[in-house]
Amino acid sequence: MYELKVISQFAAAHQLREFVGKCEALHGHNWKVEVHVTGNRLGKDGLLIDFALIKKQTEQALEEMDHKFLNDLEAFKDLNPSSENIAGYIFKSLGKELNNENVRVSRVTAWESDNACATYSEP
Ligand SMILES: [Zn+2]
Repeated sequence: MYELKVISQFAAAHQLREFVGKCEALHGHNWKVEVHVTGNRLGKDGLLIDFALIKKQTEQALEEMDHKFLNDLEAFKDLNPSSENIAGYIFKSLGKELNNENVRVSRVTAWESDNACATYSEP
């Protein structure tokens, strides 16, 4: 199996609901997002999928969150904008764009600091 990884960034503010701790107050993060794409078969060009396409779709998914207050977004109206839910949200929106018979988004990791991240994947 081949696995590709693309790394992107976005900056946003959030405020966790029903949570007691530092993230209860309004604050921001510079999130680093890792997108993993896997597949078994390469095209004639020796590529699983063009990195530029993964990058473009990822940038599009992050665009709606970049420099926003995440709690205000439709996606996080009823869902806490935690790194876990951000990873899950990106995973689902990217899957719709990139998954096909050869390729699937296998894992999305959202780093909210240099040493803390959440990963979402589906079996
Ligand atoms: Zn936070």
